[in-house]
Amino acid sequence: MTSLTIEKLDYLKGLLDQREDTLRNDIRREVNLQDDYTDLASEVPDPGDSSFANLAVDLGNAAVTRDLMELRAIKAARSRMEQKTYGTCIECGYEIPYERMEAQPTAERCAPCQDVYEKTHIDALKGASL
Ligand SMILES: [Zn+2]
Repeated sequence: MTSLTIEKLDYLKGLLDQREDTLRNDIRREVNLQDDYTDLASEVPDPGDSSFANLAVDLGNAAVTRDLMELRAIKAARSRMEQKTYGTCIECGYEIPYERMEAQPTAERCAPCQDVYEKTHIDALKGASL
């Protein structure tokens, strides 16, 4: 449970919505550059849809892949809001400072835990597993 007020939560939710719109537009534009995929791109599927993730990987399009990962992060943030765990670090369980949530509404870790995570998962973050 966090001390995020309804107002702050609403504001962060708005940031997520805006970011999602931007990402979806970016993806649509990126994918439309590849004629073969125009039909698929006209209906940007759910970011959790693996076929769409595969599409991005198939395209070898780093920008789309990055956008998709962020869309997933947004989706995850929304589900944390529903579960009332939003704003709480998934590693240490402490509340993430509001300033950090405002700067990065999809943050799921506090800054110290994020540092540790990035140091220990550097290969994954580089997309080496793709
Ligand atoms: Zn933490």
